[in-house]
Parts: sequence; structure tokens; C-alpha cells
Amino acid sequence: MAQTSKSQYDVDLFVIGAGSGGVRAARIAANYGARVVVAEEFRVGGTCVIRGCVPKKLLVYASRFSHDFEDAAGFGWTVPEATFSWPTLIANKDREIDRLEAAYVANLERSKVKIVRSRAVIEDPHTVRLANGDTVTTDNILIATGGWPHMGPHIPGIEHAISSNEALHLPELPKRIVIQGGGYIAVEFACIFAGMGSEVTLVYRGGNILRGFDDDIREHLRNEMQTRGIKVLCGHTVTAIDKSGDEFVSRLSDGQAIACDKVLFAIGRRPNCMGIGMEKLGIRCHEHGGIEVDEYSRTSVANIYAVGDVTNRVNLTPVAIREGHAFADTVFGGKPTRVDHVQVPTAVFSEPELGVIGLTEAQARERFDIVDVYKSTFRPMKATLSGRATRVFMKLLVDGETGKVVGCHIAGPDAGELIQLIGIAVKMGATKADFDATMAVHPTMAEELVTMREKAASYSRKTAGEGADKAAE
Ligand SMILES: Cc1cc2nc3c(=O)[nH]c(=O)nc-3n(C[C@H](O)[C@H](O)[C@H](O)COP(=O)(O)OP(=O)(O)OC[C@H]3O[C@@H](n4cnc5c(N)ncnc54)[C@H](O)[C@@H]3O)c2cc1C
Repeated sequence: MAQTSKSQYDVDLFVIGAGSGGVRAARIAANYGARVVVAEEFRVGGTCVIRGCVPKKLLVYASRFSHDFEDAAGFGWTVPEATFSWPTLIANKDREIDRLEAAYVANLERSKVKIVRSRAVIEDPHTVRLANGDTVTTDNILIATGGWPHMGPHIPGIEHAISSNEALHLPELPKRIVIQGGGYIAVEFACIFAGMGSEVTLVYRGGNILRGFDDDIREHLRNEMQTRGIKVLCGHTVTAIDKSGDEFVSRLSDGQAIACDKVLFAIGRRPNCMGIGMEKLGIRCHEHGGIEVDEYSRTSVANIYAVGDVTNRVNLTPVAIREGHAFADTVFGGKPTRVDHVQVPTAVFSEPELGVIGLTEAQARERFDIVDVYKSTFRPMKATLSGRATRVFMKLLVDGETGKVVGCHIAGPDAGELIQLIGIAVKMGATKADFDATMAVHPTMAEELVTMREKAASYSRKTAGEGADKAAE
């Protein structure tokens, strides 16, 4: 139970931020009997529900219909020329977000969590101040303030650029859009707008999109995006944005000028830790931003904790939820619980979709003495009749000494769904032999994962000498 003296403070737990992490922590703590208040300055549900995963995925679904209509012809269907209404999509999406927000509020209230619709700032380790000046005293504080789009160093005309927040609320579909960024959010929006029929240029300063992902899958996705008509310009940045009437001109570092109707910057997100009172309490932050916490999400101040994107560990909704839950179990449930941040499966809802778990090839070769690589690329069955120029890519990385699968990378339809299930096997320590022993499901795309027999390459530090790699095949 709560290690609190219920009479000493107004509440046992004050949560700042009703997003994925804050909501879960508040509900679980309240279910343990704690008196909980959660403050939210915008909308209950946070980034994921209001301006992240959920609205984005609804737009992803919408954007994929264009391919489905095209593909249908090869299967004998005649589909009249399709028309698309962006305002209808946005209105329907907004209605669904309203419904979800109401469900989040109802769940919190059912758990007897008090919701305060206000910005909250920490006054001292046991006091939180609301926007109207009221203060609430509390035994514990949880900072779950999430993150915010970073617009980069100032460039002329940056005020004309939108972030992913506004991209979800545009009054009309831009005919031409320039997107700066190469991370998953930039890539997803590029595919969304391209699927809707916009002319998309993705501008990224690095050598290839999706830094941090396996090199093969990065290359594969870039090629697929280009096949779908997305212009991917790596090694460039937008250095200025000029406005003339309703049109914008993005000026690039190499002197190119690209006329467009919208410029979207998706170059990363920063933890929301400024201006919430942390500095004066001496709560430490990492060099790369984000509140420094221990394995139980405790900050450098004993009764103040932080979960989710504000800690900049693994910035994904399920991770924030797990951290919020573990915090409540630890502090109010008498069950000290750590979150395992290793082998987190993840998806990129690009077109085609990516599903990934574990190490990249580069990471595996750094970590293990022997690494076996299995790769497969093939035309999905649906594309045979539709005629669509697309290929599925799959890659397994195996620790050659134990046989364990240490990385799995998939590009293809429903890769996000696939990786959720493969994630269980990989997390359990499944070996390549376990994959091989599993009967294939035929005819599926996923059967390839249990039928990859030939190594694409094998690297051994042992045979090549310490520190050196040798391709065996
Ligand atoms: C476009 C986009 C797409 C994404 N897609 C995915 C995806 O497909 N899958 C996935 O797993 N993750 C995705 N994410 C990431 C995911 O949304 C975040 O990792 C997750 O929402 C983090 O949860 P959180 O609780 O840390 O913070 P948030 O959900 O950001 O919640 C923080 C809340 O705190 C509030 N707040 C901030 N400061 C204060 C204050 N001082 N007082 C009161 N309230 C305050 C904010 O208004 C916000 O509601 C996406 C993010 C974006 C932007």
C-alpha cells in the first residue's frame, strides 16, 4: 500500500501530464488506494491519443486505400475513379479522438482520480502550483509531461513550417509538401501524404532515412518510397522558407528551391522538462535531454519520479505505459518493479510498413563473436496479379554461438502486426532452430521467417582474429 501519511498532505500522488504514462500511473496508484490528482494542460490522453499514434494511424489507413483501389483492377474489379475528401477524414478522425478522450476521462474517474485541467508547476518537493495560483500539497510527484516537436536551429521563415501537431489538422490536403526529417514520424507523414495523392519531397540531412535502424531495411524502404513517387533527398537541409501568397518555397542547402503548399518539420522531439520547476529543485537531466531517473523511475529528488518521453529512454507509448504502471506498483503497490527496455518491438507505419525487434546487423556484429545473417526479398503474392512494383524484405540476425535470434527486421504488409508476435519468441530467447522447427503457415508472407535456410552471410571474429570480421559466404 501507499507509503503515505494520508493526513499530512492534500494527496498521496500528484501526476503532471495525462498522457500514456501519467494516466496509467494515476489509475494504478488510485487502484492501490492512493489519493491521486492528475493535471493536464491540454487534452486527456496526451500525445498518443490526441496528436500522435492514434490520429496518425487513422490517416495511414486512409492513405492506403489509394493503393487498394489501384490493386483491385488486377483481381478483376472495376473501381470508378476514386475521389477523396480530406475534410471528411479529418472530421471523422476528430470525432474518434473526442470519443477516446472521453473514455480516458471516464476510466480515470472510475478509479477515483481527480482530473485538474490546468498547467502544473512544481513549487517544492511536496507542493504543486496550478495556473490559477492554487497549490496542492502531495506526498509524491510524478512528472509525465512527454515531449514536444523540435523545430531545429532558427532558419529564415521557420514560422511558416508546421510540425506533426498541425499536420493532423490541416484544413485541406496540400498538393505539394516538403517534409524535413528522416525519422519515423517524417517517413510516416511522407507516406501518408503520398498515399493521399500529394507530391512529396522528403529532405534529410543524413546519408539515409531512419538513422538507428538496420542499414538494409533503411535502403529497402527508401527505394520503395521512391518507387511510390516520393522524392527522397538525403544529405540536404531546408535552410530557408519563403512565402509568396499561398505558396512556399523551401530553399535547400545545395541551392535547390522547391515550391510547395506546406512545409512540415519532423526533425525530432524534445522532452518537456523546461518551465515545470525542476531546475530550482536540482532535478538532474541527461546531456541528451530528458530527466535522469533510476531503474524505478525515481529522479534525483527522492519523492519525485518521472516516466515516459520526458525521461527520453525509449519514446514509445507502450513503454511510457509500462513505466507508469511499474512506478505505481513500486511506490503504491509494495512491488518494486523495473522496466526492461531491451528488445522493444516497434513498427514504422510507412508504406510498406516496417516491423523491427532487437539488434541491427552492425550492433550484432559489434556484440557477438559470430553473427549469421539470413535475408530474403520477394514479391508478395498480392503483387503478382495487381502488378504493383513492391517487394517484401526480411532479415534475421543470429548469434552464431548460441543460435539465438537477436534481431528481426521486416518490411512488408502488416509488418507491425507480425513483429508483435515475433517479439514474443525473440524476447523468450528463441533460436533459429526454434524458428525452423515451427511449421510454416501457407500461403503467407510470414512463412518466409521459418523457411530461411541459406545464410546470406556469416561473420566471425574468431576465425578472422579479434576485432576483424570475415564474410564466410
Ligand atoms: C506524430 C507521432 C506519432 C507517434 N506514433 C507512435 C506510434 O505509432 N507508436 C508509439 O508507440 N508511439 C508513437 N508516438 C510516441 C508516443 O506518442 C509517445 O511516446 C507517448 O505519447 C509518450 O507518452 P507520455 O506519457 O510520456 O507523454 P504524452 O503522451 O506526451 O503526455 C504528456 C502530457 O503532459 C501534458 N503536459 C505537459 N506539461 C504539462 C504541465 N506542466 N502541466 C500539465 N500538463 C502538462 C501534455 O499536454 C500531454 O498531454 C508518436 C508520437 C508522435 C508525435
